[in-house]
Amino acid sequence: MAHSVRCISKDGTLFVMAADTTDIVETARRLHHTSKVCSAALGRLLTGCSFMGQLLKGNDDTVTLRVKGGGEAGVVVAVADSDGNVKGYIENPNVELPLNSKGKLDVGGAVGKDGYITVMRDLGLKEPYIGQTPLVSGEIAEDITAYYAMSEQTPTVCALGVLVNPDLTIAVAGGFMVQLLPTADSEAIDRVEKCIQDIPAVTTMLAEGLTPLDICRKVLSEFELEQLDESFPEYRCDCSRDRVARALVTLGKEELLSMAQDEFTEVNCHFCNKKYKFTPAEIKALAKS
Ligand SMILES: [Zn+2]
Repeated sequence: MAHSVRCISKDGTLFVMAADTTDIVETARRLHHTSKVCSAALGRLLTGCSFMGQLLKGNDDTVTLRVKGGGEAGVVVAVADSDGNVKGYIENPNVELPLNSKGKLDVGGAVGKDGYITVMRDLGLKEPYIGQTPLVSGEIAEDITAYYAMSEQTPTVCALGVLVNPDLTIAVAGGFMVQLLPTADSEAIDRVEKCIQDIPAVTTMLAEGLTPLDICRKVLSEFELEQLDESFPEYRCDCSRDRVARALVTLGKEELLSMAQDEFTEVNCHFCNKKYKFTPAEIKALAKS
C-alpha cells in the first residue's frame, strides 16, 4: 500500500504532503509493461496526480492530468479521486533512452517539452474545470509546479521521483509537494527556499527508509509542522462492462453496426488493460439504444 501524509505549519503559512507511492508505481509497471524511463514518467505523474486528488474537496470529485510533450513516449495520463487513489497510462510504454547528462532516467526526453500539461477537475458540476500551461521540461514535477504558479497563482514546490531496479521492478517511488497558503508573507517564502536548497532526492530519502512524515519534516526543517492526516492510496481502476458499453454508444450507430459485422468486439481498458468482449448481438443492441 502507498502511504501519504499531510502536514500544516504551526504558523499557518503553508502545508506539505509527502508520499511513498512505490506500490502504486509497481502496479502501473506490471499492468503496462513499462520500460525504465516510462515507469519513471508514468510513476511521477501518478504520484503528482495523487497529491492533487487529495486536495479535492468533494468525495466524488476527480482530477485528470494529461501531459503531451511531443516526445516518443506520447501522451501520459493520470486520474485520481479525492482519496488519492489513482490510475494512468502512457501511450508508448516501451520507449528506451540513454541516461541524461546528469546520469538520470531521461523523463524529459521521453515525454518531450513541446506541449502542455492539462489539468481537468470534475467537481460534479455541469462542466469540468480545465486549466492548461505550457510544459517547462517534461520532467513532470517542474511542470506541475509551473502549472500551479501560472494557472492557479499558488506558489508550489513539487518533487517527484521513481527509482527502477535493474530487473525493471520499482525500487522506490514517491514525492512531496509544498504549497504556500495566502497567509504566507515573503519571509515565509524565503524560509521555504532556504529549506529546500539542499534537500536530497526523494528517491534517496525513501531508499534510506524515511517515512512520508520524516520527509515532510526534512523538507521543511525550519518550520514546526503538525500532521493533519494520513492516507493509504492505491492504484485503482473503476472500469466496468457498463462504462465500456456507454463509451461504445458514443461511437454512433453507423460505427457500431459496422463493428457488429465482426465475430466479436474486444475493448481494452487503457488504465488496467482489462479486456471486455461484446458479441455482435450485444453491439447491435447498443446501436439501437
Ligand atoms: Zn480498467
